[in-house]
Amino acid sequence: MFTYIDPAVRQKLEEQGKLFQIDRDGHRVAAVNAGTRGSISILGPIPMPLKLCEQRVDVAWYACVRHTELSKIEEIADELRQQNGQAAFATLASSMAVNSVLLIGDPRHWENPLVRVHSSCMTGDVFGSERCECGPQVQSALNLIKHDEQGGMVIYMSGHEGRGIGLWAKAATYLLQDAGEDTYEANRSLGLPDDSRDFSDAASLLKYFVGDEPFRLLTNNPKKVSDLADMGLHEITRVKHVTGVSEKNRRYLDAKRAWGHDLSPEDIGSG
Ligand SMILES: [Zn+2]
Repeated sequence: MFTYIDPAVRQKLEEQGKLFQIDRDGHRVAAVNAGTRGSISILGPIPMPLKLCEQRVDVAWYACVRHTELSKIEEIADELRQQNGQAAFATLASSMAVNSVLLIGDPRHWENPLVRVHSSCMTGDVFGSERCECGPQVQSALNLIKHDEQGGMVIYMSGHEGRGIGLWAKAATYLLQDAGEDTYEANRSLGLPDDSRDFSDAASLLKYFVGDEPFRLLTNNPKKVSDLADMGLHEITRVKHVTGVSEKNRRYLDAKRAWGHDLSPEDIGSG
């Protein structure tokens, strides 16, 4: 039977502890029990040297995907193979939301690590768009964690483009914004929620990597803290994370501030 990862390779990785499963509460579970709702399959650590604006950061990368989603992809991939449909495989696999953990330091020594839960943003993170401040935020987070005594991690949420509406709809919201709507109004005009991001996978990964220790969270969004608290993570100290403010994104940041983000007029230079 075709599997996304060849069974022999899979077994070897499992024996090495580099492919494993955690449940919703962040506990390791045996592969045979991984079918339980919401469990996450994790591949890693994979050593990854990063170069960000002349700064070097060595991280351990973990690729994380919902077990149910992975199983579904494997099943369909098997069907496709039987129908000689390999060409469709890339499309199939690329739609799978694989989150990443970029870990710096040794979790065994963490008492209060520094964490950023970052929502993927193709335009900001990859293209360097100044319509938002996502690119500078993720780079600055890695830099701060690198220089932090405790270290910590960035959880990069791949399915969070445009606060959960996806890249296609986000492109449409940009056109609506250029016609005068703010970032939240534009979502509503498309009949989409203001914010449909789901942080439950981030919560499970935090429970696994940070455990019961308190941690500091780099964010200006109090809702992110309350969402994580609703999922059982209570010892969070929010650390303000203002960076990448420019003339080009001031209006966007103003809308975020009006929506509840902890940004003062001084922070965004409009005071
Ligand atoms: Zn962005």
